[in-house]
Amino acid sequence: MPTTIFTSPSKYVQGPGVLDDLGTHLPPLGDKPLIVADDTVWGLVGEAVTSGLTSAEVEFERVGFGRYATPESVDALVEKIRTGGHGVIVGLGGGSAIDAAKAAGHLADIRWASIPTAASSDAPTSALSVIYTEGGEFLEYRFFPRNPDLVLIDTAVVAQAPARFLVGGIGDALATWIEARATARGRGDTMAGARPTRSATALANLSWELLHENALAALDAVQAKAVTPALEATVEACTLLSGLGFESGGLAAAHAIHNALTAAPQTHGLTHGEKVNLGTTVQLILEGADSEELEDFIEFTTLVGLPNTLTEVGLTLEDEKELRAISEAAVVEGETIHAMPFEATAEMVYAGLRAAEQISRRVRTQRGLPEPTLHSAH
Ligand SMILES: [Zn+2]
Repeated sequence: MPTTIFTSPSKYVQGPGVLDDLGTHLPPLGDKPLIVADDTVWGLVGEAVTSGLTSAEVEFERVGFGRYATPESVDALVEKIRTGGHGVIVGLGGGSAIDAAKAAGHLADIRWASIPTAASSDAPTSALSVIYTEGGEFLEYRFFPRNPDLVLIDTAVVAQAPARFLVGGIGDALATWIEARATARGRGDTMAGARPTRSATALANLSWELLHENALAALDAVQAKAVTPALEATVEACTLLSGLGFESGGLAAAHAIHNALTAAPQTHGLTHGEKVNLGTTVQLILEGADSEELEDFIEFTTLVGLPNTLTEVGLTLEDEKELRAISEAAVVEGETIHAMPFEATAEMVYAGLRAAEQISRRVRTQRGLPEPTLHSAH
């Protein structure tokens, strides 16, 4: 029988106001936390973090951060850890600050914690980072021997974040079940380096169910800047369940197509989860998913505000050269598309990308949904 592996963070803390409890949760991990946060994030939560730590008499330092987790930004953090004598590094904010903090903590051999300020991706819980170029193109996955020791998410902060962040998180989390299901049917390994456990596959499925039940109401809550049970359920689905589900349940075509899309400059204004959702749509087409499942997925994600067409990510059926390049990049050796239960080729991805445009347009017409338009804050 093949080996299975399940990996997870040591502690997950979620709720409104939990930033106040940082002074309880951080000190056991190490002295003098180094907090990585860009100026926007620090402007929003710097005061809460500072009061949470100073009330517990925890000395800390905060360092700024750019847009992407690049090899250079990681190395600069390692240097900072070494000269500053920090015993724990905290990624505070979006997926990039969190990924950079993990990678630097690993290289400097100290503990790391993730404090996302939005439920915008499932990066925070995992033992891996996604590293990009300065220009925002996917460069590599880096794998670590440990998950974060702590993942803490304050839902009162999430409720204040732009709704588009949560939309992205929902896209990332919906992919988790579709990819875990495909990995379970196939023979490939998960990001944890072995076959999926039944537990991780089940958690991925729970994430999918919670999102269908709660995601639209959670987006209403964020528009109203209100913390509700639907928001709590959606944050847990996007952060904890999707995180455990993707890492130990397996990624497949959707994330490989996402990674390939990052090579097209047209897509750079989109969030991770927005691009992933086009990948999930294409994966369902490649699988020959039954038409009701595919059409319901298109309807639900259109209502959430996620792209499921080329048009929405800035591409068209005429962009033959770009579509060919994306299709080739999606199937390079080592990409997660090879976890699919059949051999996926560039030709199949190319056909799937084109078909997504037409199928989505038909479904939208049939179900009275708006036509696709460019989906981006370029
Ligand atoms: Zn993802």
